[in-house]
Amino acid sequence: MAQFMLPKRYNFKEIEQKWIQYWKEKNIYKFDINAKDKEIYSIDTPPPFTSGTLHMGHILNHTWIDLVARFKRMSGYNVYFPQGYDCHGLPTELKVEKEFKVSKDDREEFLKRCIKWTNEAIKKMTSQFDKIGYSTDWQFTYRTMDERYLRMVQKTLLFFYERGWLFLGDHPIHWCTQCRTALAKQEVGYIDTKGKFWYIKLPLTDNSGYATIATTRPELMPSCMAVLIHPDDNRYYHLSQKKVKLPIFNREVPIIQDAAVDMTVGTGIVYVCTFGDETDIAWQKNYKLPIIISIDEQGRMTEAAGKFRGMPIDEARETIVNDLKEMNLLEKEEDITHRVIVHTERSSCLTPIEYLPIKQWFISIRPFKEEILDAAYKMNWFPPTMIKRLEDWVESLEWDWVISRQRVFGTPIPFYTCEKCSNVIPAKDADIPIDPRVDPPPLSKCPKCGGKIIGTVDVCDCWIDSSITPLIISKWSEDENFFKKTYPSSMRPQGYEIIRTWAFYTIFRCLKLTNLPCFRDLMINGMVAGTDGRKMSKSYGNVVEPEKPLEKFGADALRQWGGLGTLGDDYPYNDKEIEYNLKFLTKLWNACRFTSAHLNNFDIKKITEAKIELTPIDEWILSKLNNVIKIATESFTTYNFHTGLSAFRQFFWHDFCDNYLEAVKYRLYAEKIDPAQIIAGQYSIYNVILDSLKIFAPIAPFIVEEIYQSIYKKDLQIPSIHLNSWPTPRYKVREQLDQIGALSIKIIGEFRKEKSNKGIPLNTPIKKAIIQIAGDRKVFDQIEKDISGTLKIDELIISHDPPARFFHNSFEMPEEKIIIHWEL
Ligand SMILES: [Zn+2]
Ligand SMILES: [Zn+2]
Repeated sequence: MAQFMLPKRYNFKEIEQKWIQYWKEKNIYKFDINAKDKEIYSIDTPPPFTSGTLHMGHILNHTWIDLVARFKRMSGYNVYFPQGYDCHGLPTELKVEKEFKVSKDDREEFLKRCIKWTNEAIKKMTSQFDKIGYSTDWQFTYRTMDERYLRMVQKTLLFFYERGWLFLGDHPIHWCTQCRTALAKQEVGYIDTKGKFWYIKLPLTDNSGYATIATTRPELMPSCMAVLIHPDDNRYYHLSQKKVKLPIFNREVPIIQDAAVDMTVGTGIVYVCTFGDETDIAWQKNYKLPIIISIDEQGRMTEAAGKFRGMPIDEARETIVNDLKEMNLLEKEEDITHRVIVHTERSSCLTPIEYLPIKQWFISIRPFKEEILDAAYKMNWFPPTMIKRLEDWVESLEWDWVISRQRVFGTPIPFYTCEKCSNVIPAKDADIPIDPRVDPPPLSKCPKCGGKIIGTVDVCDCWIDSSITPLIISKWSEDENFFKKTYPSSMRPQGYEIIRTWAFYTIFRCLKLTNLPCFRDLMINGMVAGTDGRKMSKSYGNVVEPEKPLEKFGADALRQWGGLGTLGDDYPYNDKEIEYNLKFLTKLWNACRFTSAHLNNFDIKKITEAKIELTPIDEWILSKLNNVIKIATESFTTYNFHTGLSAFRQFFWHDFCDNYLEAVKYRLYAEKIDPAQIIAGQYSIYNVILDSLKIFAPIAPFIVEEIYQSIYKKDLQIPSIHLNSWPTPRYKVREQLDQIGALSIKIIGEFRKEKSNKGIPLNTPIKKAIIQIAGDRKVFDQIEKDISGTLKIDELIISHDPPARFFHNSFEMPEEKIIIHWEL
């Protein structure tokens, strides 16, 4: 029997703290792999990079994930919901270098600091996760820097190597001279920038004139290996078979005809350098041109650049242009806007990319394009349009994946090489995880040539770590039983902006490692925009840290904001909306507080549902409840929380609080009411609120727990609302009564509108009213009491005839064919 009263004011701060503690102590979200009779639902959550703080994007993404976990748990699934952390990365290295002034060269100390820093960051982020009511089971957390994680990553690399899919190569790679590391195709992108075309005259070796090229990069002249013209370009027919002599460097290079030359750009004559861009790489291969590297890993000119050696790229460019001017070989300069490939993955870098043939580790991707897409087609994408992003990406793939990075804090690559012949020697499976930078090789010398064996110094691209999250959470290669039960992941939540990286790499790697598609569903979220609609960014000054709204409005209000976002769409942060969400919470609180006082003498255990004598308005609200349960269930099942949440709030605030509660009140207060009718009202209130709390539980876990514990726990004996089962539309409603109930709600509503239009307080009694009807009188027999009770009408007459005398007020409800006459 309900006994408790809620405190008068809704204080989210107290409530949140209390339940975080309680859920932890009682292990409410514990996952048991061996739980019987429940289907497992596993979530491959994104491990956030350990920056030390969650941003609003995380809040949106992880609110959705938590919502799914809670909904599935209540729907009877055994929910496996681990949360990991992505630890490795350049930003940590930069922080450690800057804050602790430890150099990368002091590797051991440097790594120690990175790990320490990361552990502290994880602590802060974990407490933020707790604050938003995140229902992960922390027992299953992972960190990509853990030994267990390193072992599994290295195991997958050995697996790929054994099958010939991982190799050491010297294909030119994208190189950032600022970050001094190789980059994957996904980490670079094009931006439009102002630049120049320099028209340079290259003297023909037979002294018959010049071939004039137009280039944006004159500093690459020392790397020039050929000059190209289009075979159909009649302007230059005379140049075929000739050679030019490069000014300054005095080297002769051939003029070659190639149909890939764009005749419309510049002069239609280009020079091929190793390497200016991707077409240069193709031409170098096609014509087996020699390779001369004139820019080094730090973005300075090499020995090959002769007197320009040691100059930064920009300075070399300027000096060479000046020299050419003096030699009268610069025909003209032209200002242009052109697309330049830069390091886009770090928005603070944006350094132009160089193509350097530095030995790197690669994983083959191109042969697997079709199987990757096949696997992706087997998954359910929410929203379905998002698979297009993956298709486009896969179809555009032309490069293998360069997986090595010239950094320190990362997963070591478990291979050694022969210094002399580059023979690759993999680590032994029994030895991993290893760090070839410090651990001795498995062999003392190269089995091929007897040369010295050296350990790989590079570490893995972070996506190598994070692309096996479905395997780490399912304990692939560690625990067969666990793996079978939890792989493939039931659902992968992630942002659309990392479909071509995280989703792509995961689908690819896990497919090759297990022969199975790695997810059943993908739930794709958009990015959080600032209040001005632009992407949240420090440079726009529109960044909102989650702490602010959490402090001001509380987690349940913030989570509602998250819940109202729509699949795949960018979503603006909005203070006003969160404030409104808090109002809704207060409304819920007050309604529950008011009604709980009227449930004190109500004992659900003594109720036989079949014997309850529901009135039309009871049937009406229970039918509305059935409907909102249906909508919420359907929308949450398809990861579309917006629809379910909006419908629920509409139902609770307007149908229940504004209409039903107003119409049932008189029954709860009045003395001369048939006890059966009181019980019917209490029964309806009790169930509407209980089911409402359940529907709202995934979205606002704190407030519903507080109310549940005060009112329902005694009856239900379940330690938390979050362990209750999801409501079903179980109320048997007679359609006819539901309609009659709707009619009385409408009449009451119209009456109240009339009163308020006339400036009459809503609780002012009405002396006499006549409802003049055209239809069946019996209908009104059943609602007469609700109408007069709610509106405090002393004398209510239902009549087919107009009143015999004049009434001061009257209004018409044409649809219902009713005219109402009334006076105070
Ligand atoms: Zn960079
Ligand atoms: Zn060797």
